[in-house]
Amino acid sequence: MITSEDKKYLMNTYSRYPITLVEGKGTKVWDDKGNVYLDFVAGIAVNSLGHCHPALVDAIKNQSEKLIHCSNLYWNENQIQLAKIIAENSFGDRVFFANSGAEANEGAIKLARKYASLKYGDKRYKVISAKNSFHGRTFGALTATGQEKYHKGFGPLLSGFKYVPFNDIDALYEAIDDEVCAIMLEVVQGEGGIHEATPEYIKAAREICDENDILFIIDEVQTGIGRTGKLFGYEHYGITPDIMTLAKGLGGGFPIGAIVAKEDKAVFQPGDHASTFGGSPLACAAGIAVMNEITKEGFLDSVAQKGEYFRRKLKNLKEKYSVIKEVRGKGLMIGCEMDMEEAPDIVTKAMEKGLLINCISHNVLRFVPPLTVTEEEIDTALIILEDVLCEMGF
Ligand SMILES: *Cc1c(COP(=O)(O)O)cnc(C)c1O
Repeated sequence: MITSEDKKYLMNTYSRYPITLVEGKGTKVWDDKGNVYLDFVAGIAVNSLGHCHPALVDAIKNQSEKLIHCSNLYWNENQIQLAKIIAENSFGDRVFFANSGAEANEGAIKLARKYASLKYGDKRYKVISAKNSFHGRTFGALTATGQEKYHKGFGPLLSGFKYVPFNDIDALYEAIDDEVCAIMLEVVQGEGGIHEATPEYIKAAREICDENDILFIIDEVQTGIGRTGKLFGYEHYGITPDIMTLAKGLGGGFPIGAIVAKEDKAVFQPGDHASTFGGSPLACAAGIAVMNEITKEGFLDSVAQKGEYFRRKLKNLKEKYSVIKEVRGKGLMIGCEMDMEEAPDIVTKAMEKGLLINCISHNVLRFVPPLTVTEEEIDTALIILEDVLCEMGF
């Protein structure tokens, strides 16, 4: 049990639910009182293989007995191997490893500015991002994040950023001038409430970038690594970005982030960018294990199928409960917009019944279970959700 005495040691950055998790296996987690939960939060789309998947545990165990960390002053084989796996399975040619989504996005912004400055000089530095986006909490990523609530109290932010309404093609065209070096977008806005980009929008962004030699950065921190039923979210749109960033699901719970770029956009030279911990043998061993599982024959198809199944069942619930306003998402990245003030209460009540979900933008229930979740587990989650709605009188 965590007491108020314990709480005084941590900064008060999170409003936490009053449970303490101690163990996990697959989609299940246990708290310190022995209660079991179905985990449809999965570390916020991080535990892609579920908790303590044997392939991931073995990879971490074995590597930790060989070499945990070495400096990027030297080569390490795991880093090369993971970069190769990512490159061979994506549009990308070159990879830089970081430790988190924010760090990957910082690096992507630096890379875009460097590319533009090499070709066009220092007058080309602006980054366009979308309103309601989320790119992380460090200053570059925070500035790129098009939501005022995250900016408040932290000014001055970086200069050279511009926000456009999401899915508005005209606004994107209007925002372009010869000072723009990059457009940065999520293909499904995660923290912003599970909003999908329209195919036309992503195609238009690609076209604008091609016409003006602007770099298209896709933030795949949440949508990447199989989350949407394809290995990367951009694959749904028939285009490729110039740069993408990865993190959340890549290490299956072990911290790792990455910047992936096309050869001619990967202009960093020695000294331009670095990360002490980035791409350690241990982190990359975790990444390799995750990528090997996710690229196995049939894995991604099953993610897409389970996502379909889940959304179909949620839409059935929507027929019965008018408080469910909309069901959105791709693959196993699903949002359920609720037409009620008490949406956050659903989270607490579901937790009491053994289901972990979370609520974003006040009224959207987010479901991002492990990609290894079973249909039976999805059924159980839906029964709990319906129970909660009934109990609340809907
Ligand atoms: C979570 C997230 C980030 C930030 O990742 P951190 O690892 O928390 O820094 C950035 N972009 C997107 C789209 C995210 O979902």
